[in-house]
Amino acid sequence: MPNSATPTHCPYCALQCGMNLTPTQDGGVAVVERPDFPVNKGALCGKGRTAASVLAANVRLTSPLVRSGGTLVPATWDEALDRVAEGLGRTRTEHGPDACGVFGGGGLTNEKAYSLGKFARIVLGTSQIDYNGRFCMSSAAAAGMKAFGLDRGLPFPLEDIPKTGCVILVGSNLAETMPPSLRFFNELKENGGTLVVIDPRRTRTAEQADLHLMPRPGTDLALALGLLHLVVAEGRVDEEYVQERTVGWEEARAAAMAHWPEYVERITGVPVPQLRETVRLFCEPEHAMVLTARGPEQQSKGTDTVGAWINLCLATGRAGRPLSGYGCLTGQGNGQGGREHGQKADQLPGYRKLDDPAARRHVAEVWGVDPDSLPGPGRSAYELLDALGTDIKALLLMGSNPVVSAPRAAHIEERIKSLDFLAVCDVVLSETAALADVVLPVTQWAEETGTTTNLEGRVLLRRRAITPPEGVRSDLEVMHELAARLGGERGLEKGFSTDPEEVFEELRRASAGGPADYSGITYRRLIEENGVFWPCPATTDGGLGAGGDVSASTGLGAGASDGSGATGGLGTDGSPDAGGALSAGGALSAGDGLGAGASGDCEDASLDVTAVADDPAQDEDVAGGVHPGTPRLFLDRFATPDGRARFVPVSHRAVAEEPDDEYPVLLTTGRVVAQYQSGAQTRRVDELNAAAPGPFVELHPRLAARLGAAEGDPVAVVSRRGRAVAPARITTGIRPDTVFMPFHWPGEGRANTLTNPALDPTSRMPEFKACAVRVEAVESQ
Ligand code: SF4
Repeated sequence: MPNSATPTHCPYCALQCGMNLTPTQDGGVAVVERPDFPVNKGALCGKGRTAASVLAANVRLTSPLVRSGGTLVPATWDEALDRVAEGLGRTRTEHGPDACGVFGGGGLTNEKAYSLGKFARIVLGTSQIDYNGRFCMSSAAAAGMKAFGLDRGLPFPLEDIPKTGCVILVGSNLAETMPPSLRFFNELKENGGTLVVIDPRRTRTAEQADLHLMPRPGTDLALALGLLHLVVAEGRVDEEYVQERTVGWEEARAAAMAHWPEYVERITGVPVPQLRETVRLFCEPEHAMVLTARGPEQQSKGTDTVGAWINLCLATGRAGRPLSGYGCLTGQGNGQGGREHGQKADQLPGYRKLDDPAARRHVAEVWGVDPDSLPGPGRSAYELLDALGTDIKALLLMGSNPVVSAPRAAHIEERIKSLDFLAVCDVVLSETAALADVVLPVTQWAEETGTTTNLEGRVLLRRRAITPPEGVRSDLEVMHELAARLGGERGLEKGFSTDPEEVFEELRRASAGGPADYSGITYRRLIEENGVFWPCPATTDGGLGAGGDVSASTGLGAGASDGSGATGGLGTDGSPDAGGALSAGGALSAGDGLGAGASGDCEDASLDVTAVADDPAQDEDVAGGVHPGTPRLFLDRFATPDGRARFVPVSHRAVAEEPDDEYPVLLTTGRVVAQYQSGAQTRRVDELNAAAPGPFVELHPRLAARLGAAEGDPVAVVSRRGRAVAPARITTGIRPDTVFMPFHWPGEGRANTLTNPALDPTSRMPEFKACAVRVEAVESQ
């Protein structure tokens, strides 16, 4: 292992902060600043600074476990792999390939996500694969596809934020979810720009806004429609832009005009003067942005809600213009790349559609199989989990912890327990792994090399910096070994390299020509250029010559035969952030209490990359043979067949579960700064546990008074799906008709016991962000 610092990236969220890992005397590594990475310039939140703690053997699984007599006991790798192959193979033989399910994660590296999709479709032959990213940004992805013909979380780099005039931040508490990103908003304010935050809670982010709107949970769609109504009424539509660059304005306009501001005030609770002020702040500057996160996205109408915010950007001529536009702040570490390479139920690598015959032919050729042998689209994440124990009898799970992170979690836990066979690959014994028949201990971020793609669409290289504990192997090796056992007679193991760089080279070929084209990206370029934005096609006659081909191997991932050199990404997950709002005047502060550092449907699956960027320097580079990558999309045209963006006419709909006499309050859920997703890693870090030791119920003083609850008293939150108990945290920073719980913990305080799995009809996103509950006082023990 290297004696000097190894530059790499944080294992947690989608900001993918750069960090250096330096060797310590005890054989471990320490996280130190890495100022050269432009996103965070050395700053890290508490999770990033303590990330080395989860590498320690004492919190890790270091031996395979197999269930024997009802308990998990240590086993050899051969015993464990044989058990997995036997469990999956028997299920496939007795019940057919679709009786085998595969569930992945948005923390898996691109190489792992790619290999997992390939494994499911050509080794198991199942259509039943999806991943926890479905619970993250799928509504924004679907809305982006509908409107722009392409989904990349941010179509511009974060460095554009300080140069715009106004940002409307919808349902993002980035002061807690990704604190180093606050510097971009600090700079925005220093430059005279304004920040409008929309969130039912007065979060740390909201405290620093110029204007904070507090809508009822689940009413962001009506709010956006009310703003668009005012844009029209006040004559602020950019008619020339609408005429030249969009389609469908009249229908969208008519829908918006049916949402009078006073009507929107009644739905949302946001006063009309605040709506008017938001429109003024957004429309007066030359440049402006709307950024959404889980607040508007994790709804049963999430796709339409994001669509309404995109409509606002289109009507005002913001999308596809410099320093302006719509973007989604993806949550998980590889939430972006995780949805591009084939672990999503309906997609093939390169962000191709699984039901597109041309896409099937292309990918099947790379995989060396008959396109007709590839299964069709499968179920979405919740639907897949809900089918466990019925149609789906065996499950291979990698990089996810749905016992904590899935909606209606007690039900999902029962579904998991009803499986004939469950195999889990993880770094720790998560709550889901504890239910498995076989647990395979795998390597993690600093122990392996692999790529991730951050929320900007910037492809990054995580590098191996430490030898993993004895007894763990890479996920890539697991798939290689299982392919040998389940498809050896077909020679399938040869298609599952244990070397991440070899996998990436194949991914390049599979993605070539697709919407998310990585074919011009190599490990060498990622090192030399500190990341490359996709799309980045190879530029020499469709081959892979630009920037290096397989022969340009850096050797970083080679030699994984010891079972330790591959892959990347966290073993467990959850579903992402909360909703969001900032305070005028002052600089934004991360304030994580841990000494935070410095601080749908794509109509055409094929994408002409020259259609989405108009940087003359880039054209020169392309002409010279090396594509520089595409930091900014849509500046000339959108990725639709005619180059125009699509307005989508949308109307207000109520939340799936409106409050009533029995359940009179709305629950919304989210994250706190010191924990990450299902908490499987961060709950094992002492510093983080000290800062955030357990769940809580945030409620308004008026609601607390009705219950007779004081600060810290246990209160029960009850929904139609179950009951959760946690201490009261009383604050005026939440609407009186709303309570909030963070979702990082299992057990009695598990927030997802309560959440509603009502699904968005397009994205299949569950409604994490709003469900009807009642709150009850609980006698202290
Ligand atoms: Fe890691 Fe924190 Fe940066 Fe996210 S914000 S990448 S958790 S250091």
